[in-house]
Amino acid sequence: MSKIHFQEKFEERHIGPSADETTAMLDALGLQNLDQLVDETVPVQIRAKPPLALPNALGETAYLNRMKVVADKNKAFKSYIGQGYYDVILPGVIQRNVFENPGWYTQYTPYQAEIAQGRLQALLNFQTMVIDLTGMEIANASLLDEATAAAEAMFMQYGLRKNKAANAYFVSSTIFPQTLDVLRTRALSYGIELLVGNLNDIPQEANIFGALVQYPAGDGTVQDYKTVVELLHARDISVCAVADLLSLVLLTPPGEWGADVVVGSTQRFGIPMGFGGPHAAYFATKEAYKRNIPGRIIGVTVDATGGYALRMALQTREQHIRRDKASSNICTAQALLAIMAGFYAVYHGQKGLLNIAERTHGLAVLLDDALQQLGYTQLNETYFDTLRIELGELAGPLHAEALNNEVNLYYQGTIAGISVDETTTYQDIEILVRIFAKIKGKTATDVDLAAIAAAIHPHIPPSLQRASEYLTHPIFNSYHAEHEMLRYIKSLETKDLSLCHSMIPLGSCTMKLNATTEMIPITWPEFGSLHPFAPADQTGGYMQIISELDQWLSEITGFAKVSFQPNSGAQGEYAGLMVIRAYHESRGDMHRDVVLIPASAHGTNPASASMAGMKVVVVKCDERGNIDVADLQAKAEIHAGNLSALMVTYPSTHGVFEEPIIEICDIIHQHGGQVYMDGANMNAQVGLTSPGLIGADVCHLNLHKTFCIPHGGGGPGMGPIGVAAHLVPFLPNHQVVDVSGEQGISAVSAAPWGSASILLISHAYIAMMGAEGLTNATKYAILNANYIKARLENHYPVLYAGANGRCAHEMILDCRSFKTAGVEVGDIAKRLMDYGFHAPTVSFPVAGTLMVEPTESESKAELDRFCDALIAIREEIAAIEDGRSDKVDNLLKRAPHTVAMVSADVWDKPYPRSQAAFPLPFVREHKFWPSVGRVNDSQGDRVLICACPPMSAYEELEA
Ligand SMILES: *Cc1c(COP(=O)(O)O)cnc(C)c1O
Repeated sequence: MSKIHFQEKFEERHIGPSADETTAMLDALGLQNLDQLVDETVPVQIRAKPPLALPNALGETAYLNRMKVVADKNKAFKSYIGQGYYDVILPGVIQRNVFENPGWYTQYTPYQAEIAQGRLQALLNFQTMVIDLTGMEIANASLLDEATAAAEAMFMQYGLRKNKAANAYFVSSTIFPQTLDVLRTRALSYGIELLVGNLNDIPQEANIFGALVQYPAGDGTVQDYKTVVELLHARDISVCAVADLLSLVLLTPPGEWGADVVVGSTQRFGIPMGFGGPHAAYFATKEAYKRNIPGRIIGVTVDATGGYALRMALQTREQHIRRDKASSNICTAQALLAIMAGFYAVYHGQKGLLNIAERTHGLAVLLDDALQQLGYTQLNETYFDTLRIELGELAGPLHAEALNNEVNLYYQGTIAGISVDETTTYQDIEILVRIFAKIKGKTATDVDLAAIAAAIHPHIPPSLQRASEYLTHPIFNSYHAEHEMLRYIKSLETKDLSLCHSMIPLGSCTMKLNATTEMIPITWPEFGSLHPFAPADQTGGYMQIISELDQWLSEITGFAKVSFQPNSGAQGEYAGLMVIRAYHESRGDMHRDVVLIPASAHGTNPASASMAGMKVVVVKCDERGNIDVADLQAKAEIHAGNLSALMVTYPSTHGVFEEPIIEICDIIHQHGGQVYMDGANMNAQVGLTSPGLIGADVCHLNLHKTFCIPHGGGGPGMGPIGVAAHLVPFLPNHQVVDVSGEQGISAVSAAPWGSASILLISHAYIAMMGAEGLTNATKYAILNANYIKARLENHYPVLYAGANGRCAHEMILDCRSFKTAGVEVGDIAKRLMDYGFHAPTVSFPVAGTLMVEPTESESKAELDRFCDALIAIREEIAAIEDGRSDKVDNLLKRAPHTVAMVSADVWDKPYPRSQAAFPLPFVREHKFWPSVGRVNDSQGDRVLICACPPMSAYEELEA
């Protein structure tokens, strides 16, 4: 018998190459072992010495067993807390086929539209649903959460203000505290003055440019804002409404009473509370402001054959290239959750939603009437779902009795708030009545609930009862039977290429394995149904996960503490810069506002810096792609008096561990600045070096890159920030839940720990990999990249490498020379689809190039298929170069090829069909068909259509 292994090793599942494959790959690189490669790649002066201090790796079964115990420490009481988070019923058909389905959650952001039509359609459904319910003209495809969406609205209103001297924003005092908290943070960084007060006495000063109201208001009342809005408009003040989407089924939509922007959460559309997230926020506005909308917009266009096709609209012109001029820093949003919310509306349709909203409202009225019969005072005359009961001296006893019955209400002084939701039943109302009766010394039999139920009247003012139609499109009226829904979801899923099909080698995005075991606990009710403001003694499980993850990520980054508030990398950048700003100010350095950013930085870096109210100064890169240290030194000196920070990505976006990184950080510190490290490339660092070791002060971690949260087709993500000890006191706080020290900046997200439920994924990854596994993952990420480099460098020039000719975990393939043959880098991206692959990152950080990042999770077999495809494409380019293929009518220019094209009765191309669709033998075995031909980008931008077009439009297209 050979040696017995007592424990399954998850590491062997996570890392792609087998032992034999590893040997073959090392041979190809002329290396004896992995450590030799690491020595040639990672500069010795920044190498970590002792191994990471992490608990021993757990096998998959052992981990899930441990998590069962942790889950038991969460107490899922019945929640009536409300405040923006409500219990929901996630339809099983959506849970299993979307939420728990790698065919939906492992997709990349839909930049390659031809292989992303499924999720583009699902997101278009989401936009249509938002447009219909809010009564607005245009909507985007999700933002991070309600509070940041409100902040984005404020900034858009600011940008569009007529009077450029106006800098005050009026906020109605009845908004949720977490929304106000995030508005405060943003207002501070933009220099906007926030005026919080009663809508009936908005100051007359001329400096107000915008106003924000909540609908229904934070206290639950439903108010008619029409007259106020007219008065405000007469003063050139634009109005944003934060609206509860479910309530809009019954209420006159804000678009009909004059709102200029409407934002809010779509959590109530089937997305579990998850202790704060992830949930998709929505953003809707007028057509006139389409160029100022933050986030992504999905639009309708045509493909090469003139057929219906979808794509992300206004991308290049409005968003990417604008860096610090960008309308926002949103990159990762909440695509998966928006897709689910859209499906929820598709499944329920107008009638189903009406049913849910009426039931919710009806049960609230039932409870209201019953409590009044018991002698309670209910403060809200109008409401959708929320009651406020004045308890006086009964407040204490009621709180205790509610807890005895495992019921959470929202307590403020002597008032108890009760928000009814989709899950509330008649029996739940009986329980609440019993609780309230008991502390008055009465019994439930003192109220005749059945009689009350028989005579219910709505508590929505007649002027605000919705009359207009919504969700009339056939998409929302065709899939209410589960079989129809199941097939609709599948039909969209099969249009999309995901990690279920092949590697997605996206440089800088780290599309690694999202292991099934890592996903499993997320849908356990102990984690899904917790309200973020639930009492601390009910959230022990989450507290344990968050504290362990804090320790582990602190160890991995070499920092003192981690804040889990930011919901994306870009939000982490913003949070980190605001922390740096607070640190400078605490030392009396109010004026430090210059941020140095290398030319090669990701667009979110300058966008976040400008959002944080800072001035961006660009630092040059030399011809080898590295930061020009002399230029950095010069700029640090020039700006020494006002230097706030350097933002640096490490290893660089060029895929190189720059040798002088310690010197670079020293220069910044010597001139009074702080170093912000963009952690998107942490996958090349974990266990080998760390932000702390290179001398950074703050970094964000894209948990949806390095730490296995799936990309979800463009979110959710998490961008926690780690900081050195001197910055710990300034980490973000939260109005409702205390999560930081006294000097903490105000909140950057709605929820205290951001999208807490997906922290489970990163927790699982670290717990199952352990120190050795994580370090091996990094080594393999570097091995896989260098193996691809070795296989491809005779076919494509590889830009930039380290001192020993090695790349880090990614590399840039130069495609600029093919232009002489008329081939653009985009043509290669499209042709890769015919081979069954998603393109690498196109034209970032260098225009005309491809950035390839294989990650550790891909086997040699898959890397070889990918390299074979690129080598074959290089041959196809060569054929054009030397005139064997036509310059226009060729395999690249006509790519991708669809079933319809290849099976058409007429074939008029100068190359055979088989070469179009099955260019290599492996493609035949597992063919992925792009569902549309090449999409027309400019057509889509010229005529912007961002809601489901009427059926007649489809017929026109077919004709
Ligand atoms: C992905 C990425 C970001 C932005 O992160 P999000 O989570 O998408 O907001 C920032 N910088 C770099 C280098 C990245 O690759």
